[in-house]
Amino acid sequence: MESSEHTNDTLKIYQDLFEKYERLGVAIQANLKRTQNDLETLLKEGSKIRLVKGAYRESAKNAYKTRHEVDENYSKLMKTLFEQGNEFAIATHDSKLIDRAVNLSKMYERKFEFQMLKGIRDEIKPILIKKGFSVSEYIPYGTNWLPYSIRRLRERKRNILLLGSSFIHSHRV
Ligand SMILES: Cc1cc2nc3c(=O)[nH]c(=O)nc-3n(C[C@H](O)[C@H](O)[C@H](O)COP(=O)(O)OP(=O)(O)OC[C@H]3O[C@@H](n4cnc5c(N)ncnc54)[C@H](O)[C@@H]3O)c2cc1C
Repeated sequence: MESSEHTNDTLKIYQDLFEKYERLGVAIQANLKRTQNDLETLLKEGSKIRLVKGAYRESAKNAYKTRHEVDENYSKLMKTLFEQGNEFAIATHDSKLIDRAVNLSKMYERKFEFQMLKGIRDEIKPILIKKGFSVSEYIPYGTNWLPYSIRRLRERKRNILLLGSSFIHSHRV
C-alpha cells in the first residue's frame, strides 16, 4: 500500500482481484484515520489483511501524527482483526504490539502470522517460532530497487546502514 492518495484505487483493484484470486491480501495502514472503516468493509468481504503502521508522510487531516496515536490505533485495529478476522498478518517490529498480539491470540483462536523485514528484529523471530507462531520475512526483490530504497530511507534514516551493508554483501565475490 502506498500513500493515502492511492488508497481508494489500491483497495478497488484489490477487491476486484480478490473476487478471482482468493489468496490475495492487502496491506492497511494504522496511521490513516480511514482505516477502521476500510477494515470493517474488508472483513465483511473476507479479505486477507496485513496490518502495518504506515510508511508515508501524511497530512494531519488524513492521518494520526504522533507515535502514541498510531500505536493506539494499531492496537485497536489489531483487536478488531482478532475478534472478526482470520488469516491475517501482524506486520510490525514493535515489541509492545507483538506482545499484545500474543495475548490476543490466547483469547481468540485465529490463523495469523507475524511479518517482519528480513534483517530487522532477527533475535525475536526464533523466539516467536519456538512459541508456535508463524513468522514471515519480507524480502524486497526486483530490478526497481532504487525508488524502493529511497522510500525506505525516507521512512528511517538508519536504513542507510542496512542498505549499505546489503549492497556490500551482494557485491562480494
Ligand atoms: C511485512 C511488512 C510489509 C509492509 N508493507 C507496507 C506497506 O504496504 N505500506 C506501508 O506504508 N508500509 C509498509 N510497511 C512498513 C510499515 O508501515 C512501518 O513503516 C514499518 O514496519 C516500521 O513500523 P513498525 O511497526 O516496525 O514500528 P516502529 O515503531 O517503526 O518500530 C519498532 C521498532 O522496530 C525496529 N525497527 C522498525 N523498523 C525498522 C527498520 N526499518 N530498520 C531497523 N529497525 C527497525 C526498531 O527497533 C523500532 O524501535 C511494511 C512493513 C512490514 C514489516
